[in-house]
Amino acid sequence: MLLVANAEAWPGFKTTVEQLKAGADPLTAMVEGISLVEREPKVRSVGFGGWPNMLGVMECDAAVMDGNTREVGAVGAVPNTIPVAKLAHEVMKKLPHVMLTGEGARRFATETGFSVDDVLLEDSKRVWWERLEKEMTPEQKAAFPNTPLAPLLKTITDPERVRDTTVWLAADRERGIHAATSTSGWAWKYPGRLGDSPIPGAGYYADSRYGAAACTHTGEMTMRSATARTIVLAMKLGYSLTDAVKLAVDELDELAGGFLGGVVIHAVDAHGNHQVTNFRCQGEIRYWLWEDSMPEPELRDATNA
Ligand code: ASP
Repeated sequence: MLLVANAEAWPGFKTTVEQLKAGADPLTAMVEGISLVEREPKVRSVGFGGWPNMLGVMECDAAVMDGNTREVGAVGAVPNTIPVAKLAHEVMKKLPHVMLTGEGARRFATETGFSVDDVLLEDSKRVWWERLEKEMTPEQKAAFPNTPLAPLLKTITDPERVRDTTVWLAADRERGIHAATSTSGWAWKYPGRLGDSPIPGAGYYADSRYGAAACTHTGEMTMRSATARTIVLAMKLGYSLTDAVKLAVDELDELAGGFLGGVVIHAVDAHGNHQVTNFRCQGEIRYWLWEDSMPEPELRDATNA
């Protein structure tokens, strides 16, 4: 058994490891761990500790993918809900659909017994307004929120610290290879913006026969390149894990125009290998790893593309 998750996973990683050791279903175990990350206010990019959209409203995205069946459950731009990865899992288990967004996702949450959560931290609200205020003219400020938001988009493209996703991959010879993600997306994003974290093939993909991949940072790039699917498909076509990740990095590198930033790729194959590669993200990128030969999970450094 192998479990890989990015650095934000610290509040729940050990819980998932314990559940996996006890023989739990990997997706259920990952969703349990992610729920702890989502409830931890110190994680400033996921769930309760995340950042709101340009209107000061939290809209979270999440997904799960079962690599044995290629079933997917995803939710996007969900308001007032903390355990969004769990909600995505419910979509997979209970609906004939793959993805619900916005008010429809919230309605399904209520029908399924999820509480209505107050998701905006006081501190996030304060920082959100301080930053937005700097970008506005006195006229825009007086009219807010009844003012066009697109001219204020500078607030979302900077700084790096206002992004990240928690991405998890579990791989086991018997139980298969699976992926799960959760994020509040880009801070100060335009309302209704979906990132890659709920989009199968972009922010995550899993196929137990070959491997899985999940991405963090610039979803606007991985959605254009279908990064996670590219990696898994390349492995199906005979590429090694390293070559498959390199192909996906080359595809990202070849993008022209539009918003370009960095991406971190997390990937595993069906032979027990894993790779975490940083393509152009600032700062130190680390990730959590646990293999059943390890007494404790380890925090490791990603390699640079
Ligand atoms: N990939 C996420 C998104 O585009 C954000 C992140 O992981 O930094 O919403």
